[in-house]
Amino acid sequence: MRFPFSAIVGHDDLRMALLLNAVHPGIGGVLVRGEKGTAKSTIVRALAALLPAVDVVPGCRFACDPANPDPACPDAPHTGADQRPARLVELPVGATEDRLVGSLDLERALTEGVRAYQPGLLAAAHRGVLYVDEVNLLHDHLVDLLLDAAAMGRAHVEREGVSVSHAASFLLVGTMNPEEGELRPQLLDRFGLTVHVVSSRDVAIRTEVIRRRLAFEADPSGFAAKWTAADAELAAQIVKARTALPGVALPDSELRRIASVCASFEVDGMRADLVVARTAVAHAAWRGGDAVNADDVEVAVRLALPHRRRRDPFDEPGIDEQQLQDALQNAAEQENEGPDDDPDGPDGPDDGGELPRNAEQPQGSPGGGDQPPVPPAPAFKARLLQVPGIGEGAPGRRSRATAHNGYVVRPSTVEGNGLHLVGTLSAAAPHQSARGRDGAGLVLRGQDLRLAVREGKESNLVLFCVDASGSMAARKRMSAVTGAVLSLLRDAYQRRDKVGVVTFRGNSAEVTLPPTSSVDAAAARLKGLRTGGRTPLADGLLRVRRVLAAERLRDPRRRPLLVLLTDGRATQSAGGRDPMDDAMRAAGMLAADGIPNIVVDCEQGYVKLGLASRLAAVLGGTCLRLAELSADQVTGVVRAARAA
Ligand SMILES: [Zn+2]
Repeated sequence: MRFPFSAIVGHDDLRMALLLNAVHPGIGGVLVRGEKGTAKSTIVRALAALLPAVDVVPGCRFACDPANPDPACPDAPHTGADQRPARLVELPVGATEDRLVGSLDLERALTEGVRAYQPGLLAAAHRGVLYVDEVNLLHDHLVDLLLDAAAMGRAHVEREGVSVSHAASFLLVGTMNPEEGELRPQLLDRFGLTVHVVSSRDVAIRTEVIRRRLAFEADPSGFAAKWTAADAELAAQIVKARTALPGVALPDSELRRIASVCASFEVDGMRADLVVARTAVAHAAWRGGDAVNADDVEVAVRLALPHRRRRDPFDEPGIDEQQLQDALQNAAEQENEGPDDDPDGPDGPDDGGELPRNAEQPQGSPGGGDQPPVPPAPAFKARLLQVPGIGEGAPGRRSRATAHNGYVVRPSTVEGNGLHLVGTLSAAAPHQSARGRDGAGLVLRGQDLRLAVREGKESNLVLFCVDASGSMAARKRMSAVTGAVLSLLRDAYQRRDKVGVVTFRGNSAEVTLPPTSSVDAAAARLKGLRTGGRTPLADGLLRVRRVLAAERLRDPRRRPLLVLLTDGRATQSAGGRDPMDDAMRAAGMLAADGIPNIVVDCEQGYVKLGLASRLAAVLGGTCLRLAELSADQVTGVVRAARAA
């Protein structure tokens, strides 16, 4: 028994976003952002129950409409007609590509000579709802396939020379908890609408939520029965709005308002304008209007723009209320002046790789105590830093790894994932006459079977260890260092790494950010980093060692990469020992653990001591200068010298 849609309290934006998508499939789905325990899945399930029943062809596994069957449907030809409720299909985060797009039963194909295609979840979701909980944790490759199908309304399966294509038009709903890692920006803006869901702080609302929840749990069918009429009314309104949709007018004045607002928010491309327009039309149809008005546009802008104006993982998501009101106001004023036919494309983000930025502030005293945070230098495109060897960590985009859905590299009799067709046929070929083959069709035996060994990319744990002591605290230098780390963090975000930050200054080191998938959190901590004091380098390295040991227990398959930003100087040590000796000893321990690492030499000035490269030699890693971290400065790939 599902919780009734009309009995849901609060969550007005999410309910509206879902209903508008139910009215207009072209909007492109909803991404629901928010913490756990906010009833996201209850609401989505409740919506599915409101959708009108679908007419289907009996026996067609692709949900063809009897009135208009897909001519390319693998289950054609079609006869008869039937009706069933609209489906809610869930895509689990651990799903394989085969599960999503379907698979060819190659054993049957080879031995019986039939094209046996087993449809996947995309086919099952056709004309229904496809729900992906924690879409941010789904493999990038699957998110791409999913969003491609959602945009095209079709799915294509290409396997070993056999291709199948079928209709796959569905209402896509993804949920994510941003604290567990962001979706890449280029995937983010392919969802039509975004809603940020939070539990209400209003006591009256919370009370009502609990009251209804308890009533539902005590007597599900009795509770649902009370809301049947209200749900039926909503369902009828969806059908009515769908019918009215093609007749809704979008006046030029409102179209200009949409273009003007999108331009003022500097969104990339034209996708935002289209989504806002479709959403506004759907909203007009929903309220029973025959033309889009200013209110429809405002509702659409609120749902469609927040995730599109975000250019960088370090920008706050969401939409500024004042900016929105100004944009709508300006659009209204322009309205009276006639069309603006000079829509200047927004300039790209400033990605200048100049390092460091001229610090306007006076320099902090080099040996001083506690210095306030320094604004970081502008971010640049970071060069690729990799862990050597082949790992088997979580999917990502950094280091080489064995992967279930990576590229096929070779056939094998013992390991692999899925059939290696050419390898299997080659294994069978020499035995054909001995097996008494006559005529067409190979004679296959179990021993011919070859599996495909695949290789892809994994994500890593990139642990930054940053010297924040007085020797680094010259503002210009610290600005360059934090700017470089932010650039590397942005890179780590795109490669889906886990990140952590250890800093050391004064008497000791601290874990500024424990390993997390939230690059936003890392960036925030780094921007607030205080500097100054002595340089306990050994303590920094030992702290790194402890963090990595704990992380090895928690997430054993994820390989770490230590990025140490230092000038190599140590001036503080426990127990009155020589700080440099202690630092070298700690470096030796990390090297013995086999931790792949890169030392970024932050030494500046005319007289160079070269301490960082000595440290790198003991660590067995690569030593780079700060300026060498930019992808524009180098060709080729850096590898830490030591094998993992
Ligand atoms: Zn069909």
